[in-house]
Amino acid sequence: MLDLEKIRKDFPILNQEVNGFPLIYLDNAATSQKPQVVIDALTDYYKGYNSNVHRGAHTLADRATGKFEATRTAVKEFINASSTEEVILTKGTTEAINLVANTYGRQNIKEGDEVIISTMEHHSNIVPWQMICEEKGAKVKVMPINDDGEIIFEEFQKLITPKTKLISVVHVSNVLGTINEVEKIIEEAHKYNIPVLIDGAQSSPHFNVDVQKMDCDFYVFSSHKVYGPTGMGVLYGKKAILEEMPPFLGGGEMIKEVTFEKTTFNALPFKFEAGTPNIGDTIALKTALDYVNEIGKDNIAKHEEDLLEYCTAAFQGIKRLKIIGTAKKKVSVISFLIDGIHPFDLGMMLDAKGIAIRTGHHCAQPLMNRFGIDGTARASFAIYNTKEEIDQMVESIHKIIARF
Ligand code: PMP
Repeated sequence: MLDLEKIRKDFPILNQEVNGFPLIYLDNAATSQKPQVVIDALTDYYKGYNSNVHRGAHTLADRATGKFEATRTAVKEFINASSTEEVILTKGTTEAINLVANTYGRQNIKEGDEVIISTMEHHSNIVPWQMICEEKGAKVKVMPINDDGEIIFEEFQKLITPKTKLISVVHVSNVLGTINEVEKIIEEAHKYNIPVLIDGAQSSPHFNVDVQKMDCDFYVFSSHKVYGPTGMGVLYGKKAILEEMPPFLGGGEMIKEVTFEKTTFNALPFKFEAGTPNIGDTIALKTALDYVNEIGKDNIAKHEEDLLEYCTAAFQGIKRLKIIGTAKKKVSVISFLIDGIHPFDLGMMLDAKGIAIRTGHHCAQPLMNRFGIDGTARASFAIYNTKEEIDQMVESIHKIIARF
């Protein structure tokens, strides 16, 4: 059991009123709130040892470099990568996917080739592949899903051809909450030596991830969804693949030697980290991961499963409410529609009661098209959410329905 009272006190933002009501923050799939220790880690850096990393010959620079690299080690352990060389620090999930598309993709995708994604991808795992495929005269193919919001594995199998160069699929849908059977997809892809990228933006906050066990070739996630700062994220890649990939951005840090005639590149992971990185946010990410580890990923998963079950049952009791995304395996993300009330209006009316949910297409327009809708309302839960907050949301929804 989590000590929820203590956990909630760790997040200062939760202790406020919004529109005259205590804040109920249920938009965690968009970004999670930050515990005080993470905020402190940021101010400690700027107050105490702000300095550039890797190239300074003074005490502050050494301290910043040590802390910066400690995050890389913490990330390696968080996802169980086999070495820190496999952990590339990026701006976020979006940049990490673009990095792979522009390096691995540009190097390996040729005219007539194919990249496979799924119907439930976030735009950030669609557009980079469309861009590189358009440039190369290649094609993006899409795994279909069933009405519950699950990938139809047999249909996916049929999409694989000798021209398939990469498969990029989301671990957990930010709209439907579906936990995809990525291990099965990876196993199938590897029968044909096709590498697989897993978009972990929504799996990293909710349950334990082991990239070696999963055997994915790339795994990407964002710091800001795991209680860390924004503007910071991770690309994990298997060393053998990263070694073969050309650099992404050119500049300082990523070089070994530069002459006007020729440049040689730095070793992993620095080959992919041109320029001054996001030092303060990187350092604070370790604090966030330590915080998550202290509470325990299994405890977090259990608490959020309880919330999901509780909210699903409550929603099922509301006649005019329809849940979008009814997969057998889900995380604590629930999209829903209420007959006769536009999601945007619902969001506004809940906000008036201090309840923050998300409405719209959630950066997944093709998925909306699959369900024949424009958007949904979405409630998503994190470690600090409570059943009482769900009760309040449900009560407000009942009142709103009664008014319409
Ligand atoms: N993929 C998924 C599944 C997401 O939920 C998000 C964020 N909503 C992203 C990718 C993009 O993450 P970011 O904006 O942090 O780069």
